[in-house]
Amino acid sequence: MKYAVTKGLAADNGLFMPECIEKFEPSFFENIDKLSFQEISFEVAKKFFGEDVEESKLKEIVFETLSFDCPVVKVQKNIYSLELFHGPTLAFKDVGARFMARLLNYFNDKTDKTVNVLVATSGDTGSAVANGFLGVPGIHVYVLYPKGKVSNIQESQFTTLGQNITAIEIDGTFDDCQRLVKAAFLDKELNERLTLTSANSINVARFLPQAFYYFNAYARNVEKGKELVVAVPSGNFGNLTAGLFALEMGLPIKQFIAANNNNDIVYSYLNTGKYEPRASVQTIANAMDVGDPSNFVRILDLYDYSHEIIKSKIKGYRYSDEQISETMKRVYDECGYLLDPHGACGYEALEEYLGENQVGIFLETAHPAKFTETVESVIGKGNVPLPEKLAEFMKGEKLSIAMSKEFEEFKSYLMTI
Ligand SMILES: *Cc1c(COP(=O)(O)O)cnc(C)c1O
Repeated sequence: MKYAVTKGLAADNGLFMPECIEKFEPSFFENIDKLSFQEISFEVAKKFFGEDVEESKLKEIVFETLSFDCPVVKVQKNIYSLELFHGPTLAFKDVGARFMARLLNYFNDKTDKTVNVLVATSGDTGSAVANGFLGVPGIHVYVLYPKGKVSNIQESQFTTLGQNITAIEIDGTFDDCQRLVKAAFLDKELNERLTLTSANSINVARFLPQAFYYFNAYARNVEKGKELVVAVPSGNFGNLTAGLFALEMGLPIKQFIAANNNNDIVYSYLNTGKYEPRASVQTIANAMDVGDPSNFVRILDLYDYSHEIIKSKIKGYRYSDEQISETMKRVYDECGYLLDPHGACGYEALEEYLGENQVGIFLETAHPAKFTETVESVIGKGNVPLPEKLAEFMKGEKLSIAMSKEFEEFKSYLMTI
């Protein structure tokens, strides 16, 4: 596990997977509602990382990571929101990023080499990783992001920090950023010179902790007699993969739903059995604008590449920008609940899917204020108050290095650091 965390990507360019998934006893779930979010997460963490990290240290890492809550909030009769935006950068990626920073620091404690973390972002990953690692000794983070394709608020969250965080603005798309990061890991010369690791959801230390809040969602669900359906707004599919791990550990979830925007590669796969990656298209749910979701192979691997099994475990839904806007407006008008464009996809999928005697929880993956321009254009100006945490970021000065999408340019830069 230590190797998988510090390397990020395996030598053959493949992704690491845990060798086996340990199940909980059914009795664990009978009493789970008596445990706090942190206590539940510690039990889950022991199953993943217990062999590699001493128990007291692991507990400290989990409790420090989860210094904020992920509550389940009622939106309307049988639909609830799992609010994952109460962390420092107001998006679910804080959980994985904070955990990974602490774990990497623990593993790296004994060497004096700087670990260089490379991360490609379509918006929220960069801010969560940058803030999760800010000031951690022995680690330097390079955030690659597509020029003009992230919101001002998102950009401010990783370009204004300084210290051990460097932002690189790529003249290209998110997929270009991801390609550059992957190419760097495969480049022999770079790897001889530098210790490189990935903080994208391809890193196990980032995506596995995301299982924590599915257990918490189950524990906090108040409609216990009903079947639980969970909808996950998906881009790179790290979040959903973590949910499937939770499922395989025994968590009683009846059905998972993958909600996509117009980047519907997995949606098409579920319908046809063919996985055909293509260039991403820009949507108002921009953190899900992914044309070749990097965690999808983990799902294939988990279920032995069986289309039959995968389409029974995951139901797919897809929404256009118009549908996303319509949902945000309707839910705001009818329920007074402010969705962000990503959560709106999950909400809408539950409305379509839920049947008799079922209760749905969708992952509200970011605070709506992270997408103020989009959300206000739908529900009216001045209706999305800017949280204090975000306002603070906006005050900083933007510092970033501009680069083309050519690997050679990125490489020569890395050779000089
Ligand atoms: C990253 C992100 C997603 C997509 O999550 P994946 O794990 O990449 O599928 C959805 N919504 C928001 C707000 C995000 O930041």
